[in-house]
Amino acid sequence: MDRDENIGPWSEWDRLHCWHPFTQHAEWEAAGHEPLVLVGGEGAWLIDADGRRYFDGNSTIWTNLHGHRHPVIDAAVKAQVDRVAHTSFLGYANPRAAELAKRLVDFFPPGKLERVFFSDDGSTAVEVAVKMAIQYRQQCGQEQRTGFLAFENAYHGDTMGAASLGGVRRFFERFQRFGFPVTRVASVEELGALPKETAASLAAVVIEPLIQGVNEMRPWPSGCLAELRSWCDTNDVHLILDEVMTGFGRTGTMFACQQEEVVPDFLCLAKGLTGGYLPLAATLTTPQIFQAFLGGAERTFYYGHSYTANQLGCAAALGSLDVFRDERVLEGLPPKMEALRSGLADLALAHESVYEVRQCGMIAGIELRRPTAERFPEEVRRGEKVCLAAREFGLLTRPIRDTIVLMPPLCSSPEEIGEACKALRMAVETTSRD
Ligand code: PMP
Repeated sequence: MDRDENIGPWSEWDRLHCWHPFTQHAEWEAAGHEPLVLVGGEGAWLIDADGRRYFDGNSTIWTNLHGHRHPVIDAAVKAQVDRVAHTSFLGYANPRAAELAKRLVDFFPPGKLERVFFSDDGSTAVEVAVKMAIQYRQQCGQEQRTGFLAFENAYHGDTMGAASLGGVRRFFERFQRFGFPVTRVASVEELGALPKETAASLAAVVIEPLIQGVNEMRPWPSGCLAELRSWCDTNDVHLILDEVMTGFGRTGTMFACQQEEVVPDFLCLAKGLTGGYLPLAATLTTPQIFQAFLGGAERTFYYGHSYTANQLGCAAALGSLDVFRDERVLEGLPPKMEALRSGLADLALAHESVYEVRQCGMIAGIELRRPTAERFPEEVRRGEKVCLAAREFGLLTRPIRDTIVLMPPLCSSPEEIGEACKALRMAVETTSRD
């Protein structure tokens, strides 16, 4: 590795000039806080500036699938660099985006999700769906359908449309009055009690299928996605599935919706789309919705970004899909999911502060509470302390409040997953002595 990479004044320049996401900088810049500077990666491992190796326990904020520096994706990106890095999708086509759109559509039954709109990240994938859903209604003589239905504690991204849908008060409260009108419910069951007028005012419902991520990794009851699909059909409401976290094998199938044989009207993909290499997103939709946008200029979807359908991103995504196919990634998941289950069961048995383990495929949340089942007061910051301690045992991850996320890259071996569970166990042990 390039030596300069390891010895640059990175911490100092970071402290002076960078502004980190979701970060209180009074703490980031406080004496005694030394940021971890990551300079390399290899498979499921990350390497810091001092050469220490850490297991990538949250797949680099839920993005990485096949590991860092995977030879197939590296080669796909390098080959694309030698052709061209980026060309505009506004007015021009490109081979990588065309092939990627075709391969994404081919995951679904013919005639279902046939159109792919590219954007940049999870937030914009949702933003696109929300704007298409509204414009569709305007173009079909259903202008009264302006509302959205979303779920409490949901997270769909930070751009304004996506943030309107979000149900995490701390993140979104101060902006929500500027956004879309949203009816919020806690569960699919509650839809039965929704007034007819409310249902008739909705353009779409949005949900994270099978499991809510930012809501401390909370799985939905089985069957509720299919139930929601049928409620949407009965009430002529579109279904937007936010598979930004759950897409690309995380839940054990390529897409979470396949587990309940549900096809949405809009499918939002990002994070794992490029195997965790580059920012790229896709919103898939149906021929019916697409048709409503054909006609004069007034029916055009006026939305797009400078880097829409970036060729490097699309090349990485194609590389990632090749890895899925050639390495039979999905077929290899069951023993890994089992290693996660049994490793966390051991952890729960060993520690009374493990209140609950929630798992959906390769996604797990380990909630810590007092032995009395009371939550720790927020200022105790138990989750953060455990994750900090876990670093010492070679595990890198982040908590959501006091729920520790363990979401290993799909390429992790059952042994690596077992070791990560042990590292977490030692971290819980060390911190419970404080
Ligand atoms: N939807 C879901 C379900 C997510 O988990 C996230 C990010 N955690 C987003 C949307 C937003 O994605 P991004 O951070 O790429 O904008």
